[in-house]
Amino acid sequence: MSHAIFHFHDELNFFLPRRHKHGTIEHAFDWRASVKDMIESLGVPHAEVELIVVNGNAVDFSYVVLPDDQIDVYSQYDTVDMCDKIRLRPPLPAAPAFVLDQHLGRLAAYLRMMGFDTLYRNDYHDEELARISHDENRVLLTRDVGLLKRSLVIYGYYVRATHREQQLVEITRRFNLPAAAAPFKHCMKCNGLLDPVAKAAILDRLPDGTAQYYDEFHRCQSCQRIYWKGPHFQKMQQLVEQVLFDKP
Ligand SMILES: [Zn+2]
Repeated sequence: MSHAIFHFHDELNFFLPRRHKHGTIEHAFDWRASVKDMIESLGVPHAEVELIVVNGNAVDFSYVVLPDDQIDVYSQYDTVDMCDKIRLRPPLPAAPAFVLDQHLGRLAAYLRMMGFDTLYRNDYHDEELARISHDENRVLLTRDVGLLKRSLVIYGYYVRATHREQQLVEITRRFNLPAAAAPFKHCMKCNGLLDPVAKAAILDRLPDGTAQYYDEFHRCQSCQRIYWKGPHFQKMQQLVEQVLFDKP
């Protein structure tokens, strides 16, 4: 039986069994396997791995693990300052697009509210989620580790927080979203794009009293839903600012 030592950095120990929460595992093996397969057999989905360093040298997912290898695994490309790093996937654009699993409907609305192109339906199957994420270069956000181990998934992240507003804070930090945020660009309901619309054109669709107090309106190009800066908007704006500027 051969051994390799794995050191999981950043927040990857989240996926390890309790007794390995410190992040180091001595892994026994007696068959040839890629570092990707071994990392996943220890519980960490490949989609969260950004950098792998074996005995001081960066490698890609296909590297075949050798006896006595010392393997450092990172979820952030920038954690280590070294030459000759190897990117495991192309970097994301500053404003990434997302696709979310069926447990994350509220988070989807929040991400749209911040201006990010976000697909969500409560009836997407795992296969569809993986396929959409792959074909459209969308970051798959999920609470299902197994989904992030599918080889189709290139960009993916397991949402740790369970409270919806904390989820938004977590994703904002992880993907450095503040710089690219463009609040109220996407419809919270359907992800369609919002356009300004004249009050006269939608007067008959406004609740009583609304026209009296507001003059600026936006309409979703897809589902025709109307948005204005009422109390609901102000509450949303407050939440976005809290997240963007990390206000308590
Ligand atoms: Zn819409």
